[in-house]
Amino acid sequence: MRNIAVIGTGYVGLVTGTCFAALGNSVTCIDTDSAKIASLNSGTIPFFEPGLLELVLRNQHSGRLYFCDDLATGIKNAEYIFIAVGTPMQEDGHADLSHVRAVAHAIAASLDHPAIIINKSTVPVETGDLVSAIIREHREHEIEVSVVSNPEFLREGSAIDDFMHPDRVVLGVSHESVAQRMIDLYAPLEAPVIVTDVRTAEMIKYTANAFLATKVSFINEIANLCEEVGADVKDVVAGAGSDKRIGTAFMNPGLGFGGSCFPKDVTALVRIAERYGTGSMILPAILEVNRLQLDRILGKIETALGGIQGKLIGVLGLAFKPNTDDIRESPAIELVRRIVAKGGSVVAHDPVAVPNARKVLADGVRFVDDCYEAANDADAIIVATDWNEYKQMDFCVVKKLMNGVTVVDARNIYDPERVVSSGLKYLGVGRRMKEKSGQSVQSAPSPVSV
Ligand code: NAD
Repeated sequence: MRNIAVIGTGYVGLVTGTCFAALGNSVTCIDTDSAKIASLNSGTIPFFEPGLLELVLRNQHSGRLYFCDDLATGIKNAEYIFIAVGTPMQEDGHADLSHVRAVAHAIAASLDHPAIIINKSTVPVETGDLVSAIIREHREHEIEVSVVSNPEFLREGSAIDDFMHPDRVVLGVSHESVAQRMIDLYAPLEAPVIVTDVRTAEMIKYTANAFLATKVSFINEIANLCEEVGADVKDVVAGAGSDKRIGTAFMNPGLGFGGSCFPKDVTALVRIAERYGTGSMILPAILEVNRLQLDRILGKIETALGGIQGKLIGVLGLAFKPNTDDIRESPAIELVRRIVAKGGSVVAHDPVAVPNARKVLADGVRFVDDCYEAANDADAIIVATDWNEYKQMDFCVVKKLMNGVTVVDARNIYDPERVVSSGLKYLGVGRRMKEKSGQSVQSAPSPVSV
């Protein structure tokens, strides 16, 4: 059993702390948000993540998992101190390191024993050096600290499984002895471990996220071309992606990427490339393709309905992806905003993200508990998040409920023929109807500027 402190109880910190407790360690999770800590101490968790509440409760009851809002108390006796605070995007695109800096100062002020400080937040190259320098310069006690970069690759929605069964654990260290202690900590996971220097570890995380975002923008561009040439992108992905060098993961075209990581991390990497003088041609293009994809989907709806003004549109899904209530940078939320800005009204459904969506969407949006209610009287419905529960919609029922006939499958979850055979019009992303039905999926219009 090891003593661990995790600073920041967001999606990453809470999962990290809870999973380390589940592996038999004694863990204290710390957050400056006292209300969050109070609710964790009373047995509720601040966001939706499958399986997390049960795991938190089990480990709290076993006396291995604690929560507190005082950093000095929380890091007492900790041999390993994880930093898992947010690193949001600043207005100029750089990662905002103010929370990381604040934590480094707080550690310097109260740490009175040797410890390994582990940066789990996604941070630009040189942040490890920055944290070391702050602690060294401001420490109250002459203690030994070593700063490690240990980026996190978990995905919201499958975070526990991702943490417990990672493809790899990346450890950026400056001393071999520290590497060994980190390897020991992660040993129960039996995962491949990549030990490298701190800066390389910091680059690995940005590289991974930028590459995944590249795949999304790439396949969106290909899907748009498929629409024009009359090809079906699903078959294109199956055909190209079955090549082991390519793969099919992150090759599902749609509304574009969102969430709290890809947009900010790709942007931050652009800034890092500028700072170091290499610049980037690919990364800005990834962001631009992503931005235009939402315009294109909106353009499809506009063309199909002859304008959005005065139309009622049912939106299925608000979270940035399924199995989470996270709406940060969600393309679905942006889509709703744009529809309302163009004079349309929205009836929106999401299995878990509605409470968060209510905080950022107001006029022109009504929220419903049942996904079929979103089709009621609607001129069009749009699948904006590919939740499983939308996959088996009964389109005969949908057709009866709707005022119009347009189904925009912005996540390509439906067989176009199934939708069309119910008398509805199907608009996917890069899809083509099979010839035999004699009907065709409406091809997308050329991009419109909106
Ligand atoms: P989050 O916003 O959900 O949580 C951050 C938490 O840190 C908040 O609870 C906040 O109150 C707390 N905090 C801020 N300043 C603090 C301080 N000085 N002391 C103590 N607590 C403080 O963030 P997140 O989504 O968990 O992301 C954390 C980091 O991990 C980011 O760098 C992110 O890029 C990275 N990351 C996120 C994911 C993900 O899927 N969310 C995956 C991999 C990596």
